[in-house]
Formats: sequence, C-alpha cells, structure tokens
Amino acid sequence: DSILSLRGLRKSFGATEIIRGVDLELPAGERRAVIGPNGAGKSTLFHLISGNLTPTAGEVLLDGRRIDGLPPQRINRRGLARSFQITNIFPRLSVFENIRLAVMRSHGLQYTFWRPVGRIRALREETDRLLERVRLQQHAQELAGELSYSGQRSLELAMTLASDPRVILLDEPMAGMSNDETAHTLALIREVTEGRALLLVEHDMDVVFALADRISVLVYGQVIATGTPAQIRADAAVREAYLGEPHDEGA
Ligand code: ADP
Ligand code: MG
Ligand code: MG
Repeated sequence: DSILSLRGLRKSFGATEIIRGVDLELPAGERRAVIGPNGAGKSTLFHLISGNLTPTAGEVLLDGRRIDGLPPQRINRRGLARSFQITNIFPRLSVFENIRLAVMRSHGLQYTFWRPVGRIRALREETDRLLERVRLQQHAQELAGELSYSGQRSLELAMTLASDPRVILLDEPMAGMSNDETAHTLALIREVTEGRALLLVEHDMDVVFALADRISVLVYGQVIATGTPAQIRADAAVREAYLGEPHDEGA
C-alpha cells in the first residue's frame, strides 16, 4: 500500500496551469526520485505535498488520509517532513541547540530557552543520538551559521529526523556542493532514509541513479514515465523529453 498518493493533482498560478494532473503512488520505504527539466513543476509539486501550496484540484493522501489543505506543521506531525530549507536553522545558536529545539518541537514543547522540567536528560540523549546519526558530534558546540555548507545540510537532516518522519522530501539536496560534499551527503541521505519513504528532486543524475529505487519523470507538469533507474535510462520517450538535455541548470 502507498504511504503517499497524489491523485489528479493540479495547480494553476493565475491562468497558467503548472501541475497538470499528476498521479503518483509512493509505497512505504521506497526511495523515489522525481526528475525533469527546469520549470517542469518539481518544486511546486513538493509545495503541494508539504502544505506550502493548496492544489487547484485533486488530492494528496498520507496513509490514505487527505492532507491537502492542511497547514505544513500538521502535515509534519502526521509523519511527512521536508528538508533543506536553510531558514530552519538558527545561525546564532549552536548545532546542539538547533537539534535540541527540533527535538523539543517534535515532543510538542514550545520553542523556548526555559529548561523543560524533568525532560532535560531525555532531550539531551535524543539530541546526542541525532548528532551522531549525521556525524556532527565534533561540531556540537559550534554556531550553526559557521558550519560548512554540507555541515549545515547535515544539521538540517538531523532536525528533519527529530520528528521521525515516515516520508521525507528533499528538493535538490546537492545543489551548490563540491564532489566531496556530495559524496558525504549522499552516504548520509542513504543511511538516514533507510526504511523510510523518500521523494527526491536532484539534478545530479549520478546521485539520482545511486539513491532511487524508482524514478518518476515530470515534464511540463505531467508524469510521463515511472520506472526503475534501468527502465528510465532505456526509455526512448524520456530520453527525448529530458535525459538528452543538460541537467546542470540548477534550481
Ligand atoms: P522546477 O522545480 O521543476 O524547476 P518549479 O515548480 O519551481 O519548477 O516551477 C514551475 C513553473 O511554475 C515555473 O514556470 C515557475 O515560474 C512557475 N511558478 C512557480 N511558483 C510560482 C508562483 N508562486 N507564481 C507563479 N508562477 C510560479
Ligand atoms: Mg525546483
Ligand atoms: Mg528548477
């Protein structure tokens, strides 16, 4: 059964329809990449799933229950998290404090610097576990804003994991990274998404083919093909519509 379903999803901005009838079924635990040319509507699709945009028509279901129209925080509480929105980080707080805030939020505690009585130890242990998970233990006391670029991405990943999401959305996680940073982040994403469903938009096809169980190809607001990496690579229509083009156009 699908953990995430998109049914007849449409989104218009003014007179222009950007998402033009998308159906997509994401089984629990599957890593799915969404590829397509710049402007195809990939980020818009993510906004519709995460609750940052409301569809013009169609449905988004998480575990068979509709989530379209719900605010992002409520969708997050139901188990879907979107990462790599740099603004989530408080640059003047330490790495540890940032993760602890995410942990507190996942427990329904307020953003506050008051000590949550009786829960300090549990919160610290959970925070330490997440630090380890993304290999930031050595950087725990550094200011988040002073981390390297890939360090900040690791921190965001830890903050995303705080809510223990069953579905994770990543929009161009490798954008702007060096080869070394990409390799590090790729390994990390593979590790932390194990057993979770992933929806990934990424222009780096090496990353896509390394990470995705299956790939959906979005062209001009419609899914034109879905298949394994091997199937997608061999699909003549896909090659013509997309894979023949350069993929380095960025966000
Ligand atoms: P992708 O992520 O695949 O590159 P986007 O989803 O960012 O594509 O954008 C798809 C199209 O929708 C683009 O033509 C973009 O200009 C347009 N678009 C995105 N957001 C808005 C908006 N808020 N208002 C009007 N047009 C938008
Ligand atoms: Mg985009
Ligand atoms: Mg783009």
